[in-house]
Amino acid sequence: EEKNISLNNTTTCCYCGVGCGIVVNKDIHERITVEGDKNHPVNKGMLCSKGMNLHYTANDKSDRLLYPEMRYNKNMPLQRVSWDTALERTAAVFKALIKKHGPDSVAFYASGQCLTEEYYVVNKLIKGFIGSNNIDTNSRLCMSSAVVGYKMSLGEDTVPISYDDIEIADCIFVAGANPAWCHPILWRRVEAARQKNPDLKIIVSDPRKTQTCSLADVHLQLNPGTDITLHHAIGRCLIENGKIDADFIINSTNGYEKYQATVFETSLAEAAVICGIKESDIRLAASYIGNAKGFISMWTMGLNQSVVGTNKNLSLINLNLITGHIGKPGSGPFSLTGQPNAMGGREVGGLSNLLPAHRVLANESHRNEVEKFWQIPLGTIQSKPGLTATEMFDELNTGKLKAVWILCTNPLISLPDVRVAEEGLKKARFVVVQDISNKVETLKYADVVLPAAAWVEKEGTMTNAGRYISYLSKVTEAPGEALADSEIICRFAKKMGYHGFDFKGASEIYNEHAALTEGTNIDISGLNYEILKEKRAVQWPYPKQEKAFGTARLFTDHQFYTPDKKANILSFDDQNQSEALTPERPLILTTGRIRDQWHTRSKTGKVNKLNQHISESFLEINPIDAEVRNIKDNDIIEISSLRGNVRVKAKFSEDIKPGVVFMPMHWGKILKSDLNRVNNLTNNLVDPLSKEPDFKFSAVEVKLY
Ligand code: SF4
Repeated sequence: EEKNISLNNTTTCCYCGVGCGIVVNKDIHERITVEGDKNHPVNKGMLCSKGMNLHYTANDKSDRLLYPEMRYNKNMPLQRVSWDTALERTAAVFKALIKKHGPDSVAFYASGQCLTEEYYVVNKLIKGFIGSNNIDTNSRLCMSSAVVGYKMSLGEDTVPISYDDIEIADCIFVAGANPAWCHPILWRRVEAARQKNPDLKIIVSDPRKTQTCSLADVHLQLNPGTDITLHHAIGRCLIENGKIDADFIINSTNGYEKYQATVFETSLAEAAVICGIKESDIRLAASYIGNAKGFISMWTMGLNQSVVGTNKNLSLINLNLITGHIGKPGSGPFSLTGQPNAMGGREVGGLSNLLPAHRVLANESHRNEVEKFWQIPLGTIQSKPGLTATEMFDELNTGKLKAVWILCTNPLISLPDVRVAEEGLKKARFVVVQDISNKVETLKYADVVLPAAAWVEKEGTMTNAGRYISYLSKVTEAPGEALADSEIICRFAKKMGYHGFDFKGASEIYNEHAALTEGTNIDISGLNYEILKEKRAVQWPYPKQEKAFGTARLFTDHQFYTPDKKANILSFDDQNQSEALTPERPLILTTGRIRDQWHTRSKTGKVNKLNQHISESFLEINPIDAEVRNIKDNDIIEISSLRGNVRVKAKFSEDIKPGVVFMPMHWGKILKSDLNRVNNLTNNLVDPLSKEPDFKFSAVEVKLY
């Protein structure tokens, strides 16, 4: 079968952070076909429903933006223009705003779906040439709490394990995640591991009994927001039962004494009451972890998307640290990224507080290294972090931010308290929308529209949830005049008069990015497109002269990236700082994904097969909560919060805890109205450290409509 696979038609799925390899071919009608890449180390030929149906999305060009468009003032309609006209006008407006109001008057809002090369040039443009750090992405909504957690505990934003560790673990704790639906192929690997090893113990903590729970030995159906109490209680249990690794704690960590004192402040019985679960289940979960030779903690948005997201991450990573389950086979903390390239974006510094190769913005010598590399005057890169995702839209409202360039994301469905973003775009002086779809809501506010090439229409790289960098081939031409996102940004940079954007293609951008990582913790200076095409996916670091297949497992020597090389066991009070429930709004709204849709449905919403799974938005509610409100299954109900309202059908489920309701994140104004958009309801609180929003906890009431 290998003989049919040209290295020029292997690519990577553009949806979730699992990063499955795909072989793309064309049939006799020149239509794209897809199949799982059997030679790919991540998925070994498997694809989930979303990946398997990618050809429908790729072949359907009916909703594609084909030509640049522009309007000369807010009262005029958009009209087709040439690329030169669109980019010259944009450059003229940006220059005028920067001259009058300073570099921080403009911003770029990008996406964890951008390729690494695209991220690299946008980040270089704004930080190195415009002189502002106002670049953030929708990864802020997804992974930033894990990033801060890793940095604080391990000294570096890094996932220490390899996917192959799943097959040798004998205990996996899935916290605040539903990988059976949201990371399906990774979960297939867990299922296969369980089949091979029936003694593999699986613990799941989630207020909902999801598909993932069908494999669980114990489901801790905790109250939303009580994760830290749970993790501390498990930690206490491990300590009481002598199931900790004293040598590892003494030689390789700091902070254990304070941690022990903190976790002993709350008895297991008290913790069980706070979490709303049985004390015996906490003990059972702790016994599985305590008896494991290999223990993986696996988490995603249930921990990250929280006003205490960083602390939730730290409290979970602590369980790996006190048991010494890190840097050894089948062990380690493993955050699952939601998006396909959230990690690649961070590698090039594509957030408002980062520099390329995980350098630190606040560190002058790091800034100078990058300035020398980019051949720009020392002092050009600002030390102050730029605006984060939610802050950008807040500042459009205050008028401090004048212009925003949105690429590859649909904030008018995905941001919390989304009407703030809508108001911000209305008030913005200048909005650029760079996208593939002519359906995104942001187009309504665009002064310039730039058509972008989609998946399989451009080449580049991405990094998945396990540090695997993989290559994406260009297999077909983009429709109309659409261009690769990196090409658009480089053309604009040249219109601005900046040097350093004369790349001949994505590989030259990649090579520059790789060279800038040399000598850092994420060194990939030995890795190029040829190696990636051949090996499909390689885990960083991959420095020059590296003979091995990248670096499967980090911290095998128990040397961490902190100044004293020790990991930090960090403790803190557990206080729920989410929105308070009130008699008027006594229910906790939590949001999330469903199996067959991706983000704001601009791609998966086009595929009939995927829409058949769940065809419209809904509110999952426990029958106990419904009955007291006189609501029946499938009734149209109205959900209200302090921010707004939503009207969808009630879907009864005993799988959700009483007092909690769930709505999917995917739907929004693409249909007839915005009354199916969950972010009309969500609050705008963020974690103070990671600035990640509190999507999993908003106070709402539900009534019959
Ligand atoms: Fe794509 Fe994720 Fe499905 Fe793999 S598991 S095919 S990466 S959506």
